[in-house]
Amino acid sequence: MNECKQMTVWALAFTSDMQMIDTARNGNEGECTGEEGNCGCTHPEKNLISTMTIQDLERTETVLLTHSPCETCAFELYYNMKLQHVFYKEEYRKTDGIEFLQLKGIETRKVDWTKWPIEQERVTG
Ligand SMILES: [Zn+2]
Ligand SMILES: [Zn+2]
Repeated sequence: MNECKQMTVWALAFTSDMQMIDTARNGNEGECTGEEGNCGCTHPEKNLISTMTIQDLERTETVLLTHSPCETCAFELYYNMKLQHVFYKEEYRKTDGIEFLQLKGIETRKVDWTKWPIEQERVTG
């Protein structure tokens, strides 16, 4: 999967006791057009879900994101996982995703990590 020319966004899946299950970043099977908001890249949440097994999805309770999820990704996370907590580093554009998760009783929090746990990430996909 090709990297996005605009920005790199990560999604990380954890169990209830914070064991990392899987990671994914945004990207494109083809070529990123570099056009803002329409670059053709798939969001990391979607890539994460598509690479995980059903068993792993079912034991994912916490998702860490570099950027708060868009509404579509928030739906995908909520309906595919045993989601309880979503933590993110930065708010990204619209907050509908966060509002949806809050409405569903998911804890959402902006967290300032001193060390983001994927500096030494392994790339999936
Ligand atoms: Zn892109
Ligand atoms: Zn998204």
